[in-house]
Amino acid sequence: MTHKISVDKKTCIGCGTCAALCPESFKMEGDKAVPIKEEVDKISCEKEAEEACPVDAIKVE
Ligand code: SF4
Repeated sequence: MTHKISVDKKTCIGCGTCAALCPESFKMEGDKAVPIKEEVDKISCEKEAEEACPVDAIKVE
């Protein structure tokens, strides 16, 4: 089963937490985070990043 990863750019405040916790799936682009992959087969640190995001901008479905 694949999981979709998304970052709501309007909500992201660019704190960098997701890229620090999960550099294989998130990177900073300017002052916003973007998903490196839109889908992953297996969730590892993506869920941690989702939970750690202070403004709930990350969705892992
Ligand atoms: S943790 Fe949330 S607010 Fe911080 S950079 Fe990532 S998506 Fe943006």
